[in-house]
Amino acid sequence: MSWRDLYCGELRTDHIGKRVTVAGWADTRRDHGGLVFIDLRDHTGKLQLVVNPERAADAAQAAREIRNEFVLQAEGEIVARGPESVNPNLPTGDVEMQVDKLSILSRSTPLPFQLDEENVDETLRLRYRWLDLRRDRMQRNFRLQHTAISAMRRAMDAQSFIDVWTPSMTRGTPEGARDFLVPVRLQPGKFFALAQSPQIFKQLCMVGGFDRYYQIATCWRDEDLRADRQFEFRQLDLEMAFVEREDVLDVMETAVVASFEALGRAAPSRPFPRISFDEAMTRYGSDKPDIRFGLEIQDATAVTRESEFGVFRNAEAVRFIVAPRAFSRSEIQRLEDLAKEWGAKGLAYVVVGEDGEVRSPIAKFLAPSELAAIEAPPGSTVLFGAGSDAAVLRVLGLLRLHLGRELGLIDPDLDVFHWVLDFPLFEQDEESGKWTFMHHAFTAPVAGAEVWDEASPAGVRGQHYDLVWNGWELGSGSIRIHDVEVQQRVFRTIGLTEEEAQSKFGYLLEALAMGAPPHGGFAMGIERFIALMAGEPDIRQVIAFPKVSSGSDPLTGAPTPMPDDVLRELGVQAVAEEPKPPEPPVGRDA
Ligand code: ASP
Repeated sequence: MSWRDLYCGELRTDHIGKRVTVAGWADTRRDHGGLVFIDLRDHTGKLQLVVNPERAADAAQAAREIRNEFVLQAEGEIVARGPESVNPNLPTGDVEMQVDKLSILSRSTPLPFQLDEENVDETLRLRYRWLDLRRDRMQRNFRLQHTAISAMRRAMDAQSFIDVWTPSMTRGTPEGARDFLVPVRLQPGKFFALAQSPQIFKQLCMVGGFDRYYQIATCWRDEDLRADRQFEFRQLDLEMAFVEREDVLDVMETAVVASFEALGRAAPSRPFPRISFDEAMTRYGSDKPDIRFGLEIQDATAVTRESEFGVFRNAEAVRFIVAPRAFSRSEIQRLEDLAKEWGAKGLAYVVVGEDGEVRSPIAKFLAPSELAAIEAPPGSTVLFGAGSDAAVLRVLGLLRLHLGRELGLIDPDLDVFHWVLDFPLFEQDEESGKWTFMHHAFTAPVAGAEVWDEASPAGVRGQHYDLVWNGWELGSGSIRIHDVEVQQRVFRTIGLTEEEAQSKFGYLLEALAMGAPPHGGFAMGIERFIALMAGEPDIRQVIAFPKVSSGSDPLTGAPTPMPDDVLRELGVQAVAEEPKPPEPPVGRDA
């Protein structure tokens, strides 16, 4: 038996006069005391069913019982709608079905929320995700996702990449997050780590002679959940042998453009613009700048060296942005509160009113040369950062983003992809003073910089590159180290002893010593890419069954405690549980 011979959303005037069977969900039911109208919905759209007791008494009987979200099968004739009931907003709006047979295939208990309800609490949506997924928004997001991912796969295939599965349970592939651990019954007391990424395995695929590897790889990272972060997520993960940076960027751009084209959207033009890490930091105060708007950070360090204003004179750096608005005192106060939250001591400012009048507690200390350097037009406010350069850039970068959004400086129709290049290889932890890698421990230094002062590697540049879309970091990659000595030097620089390096990464060092080709790769976060593509504010909207910010899954109730005998078998002991904090609401966090 066949449940249906056409989809609900497919019916058009061409079908008038035909008898068809359709099946789907009762989207709405309207009883006009005699005639019953049912909108029947499936993944393609909706069709209006008309049940007329004079035409089909049994169907009319069944129709009386129907409630929203019952699953129905209807057989009948497609007819033209009367002119007054044509619905131009619906693709099937010129026709309807005069029902002859109506079967209830499945019933529904009363719904916790209606599918057309706006602003349903997100935890409730996730608790009943099967209902939530029936909504247009979710259906659209997941079909869009499928189209984009298929296009990426085809693009990789066309560029001779092969899909290789790498282990989820491993020794841990350090990407700078905590590992999720998996106890092992056969070896009680020992643990696998869930792969934070396939990083080392994909490099070993290159040593293994595969030449070009890719995978839509799941990665697990124990980090706080946010708008753009979940415990588990996927990457378009790739690695290539005998390549330079340009080859990798080219492959990634091809994959991005292919998915835009598959979705029928105007693709960003290639090559994507590039800026260096230094430029990103000094102009935008971020290594993933949103360059859809200006409001660039400017430097006043040189002109303020002799300033009468001690805060400026004594600061390592003085930088500023010029906001296109003369802020009131209370608006400035709010900005200052934010700046303090981000670590600034205060927020010096100069307001230039529409009439050109300057309002500022510090203006009297500023020499004409200092004021002239600022170049603020009437109707603007200069906001300063003074202090250590890193802190100044960070605070002004956040302020810039905040003002970009608040003042509506961002054109939401713009799609700007760009590369950030020339990152430092190492960065220093502000508190401990320890050096660590900027990207991961396997990124190669730029050619010619293979030897450095291991105690103080400040100036060494790495062959690391990031892809940014509208201020979201989509992914990172690098040319890798393929020389075992350079790899050992990186391990030493980040503080690993010879023994530690051997015990954690001995297998990689051995592989590098057995004929490792030059290689490099990239990984792009699939959910971030899709969320941006779908215009969603967070990645939960493009993950079928995501977790909420407390780290739980409202649908299954996981994670759960485990019985003692199960734990014993695994060689694990649960220490007393912390009292659970109340479930925080799932917000549109940043
Ligand atoms: N493994 C890196 C990451 O997950 C990407 C790469 O370097 O290819 O961010």
